[in-house]
Amino acid sequence: MTSQSDENRDSGFGTRDSNPESPIPNPGNHAVNVVAWDIPTAIVVREKFRIKVGVKCAHECDLANTDFGVYDHEGTQVAAGTFPVERWPGTTALHVAEVELEAPSVEGLYTWSVRSPSRTDGEVTHAEESVSFGVRVVANPEYLVTVETVDGIDRTPVSGARVVMHPYRAVTDERGIARVRVAKGAYKLFVSQTRYVTFGLPVEVDADMTARAELYVEPVTERN
Ligand SMILES: [Zn+2]
Repeated sequence: MTSQSDENRDSGFGTRDSNPESPIPNPGNHAVNVVAWDIPTAIVVREKFRIKVGVKCAHECDLANTDFGVYDHEGTQVAAGTFPVERWPGTTALHVAEVELEAPSVEGLYTWSVRSPSRTDGEVTHAEESVSFGVRVVANPEYLVTVETVDGIDRTPVSGARVVMHPYRAVTDERGIARVRVAKGAYKLFVSQTRYVTFGLPVEVDADMTARAELYVEPVTERN
């Protein structure tokens, strides 16, 4: 793409020399950058979610009102939109739109994409460009896991500890208790808090359950 646009730009100079009335100073192809972000780390099956998409010309042309489409893992268009006139705050040429999507009905990791078709502005052609992003779809979390977290030495509750059963997570309250809703399955339960060594426990969830985490203070050694 880059070499092609360089080539066209070179031939464009030649063309302009032989045609001084050309009103466009720099005819050619411009590279376009399409980005996607703010994608949730995990989405429950069939749930709606939102992402941000953006477009920018490498030469900072105004790409207001450029169309875009979002395509799923089978190449089916699942959303369409138009980039707004406004530039994203702090940028000179990035146009950003938010788009609502719906997760597939089967759990898994999917690759979707955002595509902006080519557009021609006078003698400048903005090439079609796309970017792909991952959509992690998880089962409906139907079981409740209660995690009781205590200090392993003095048995006091540990509050503010992060409880992770990937991709589900929660934080312990002042009584050291966190409740995590998860789908049926096998997990590694992790409990961490700045002062303590991270606690890890394999758990199999097929009903509501309670787990107990005893945290021990990080030993004072060379390591961090
Ligand atoms: Zn441009």
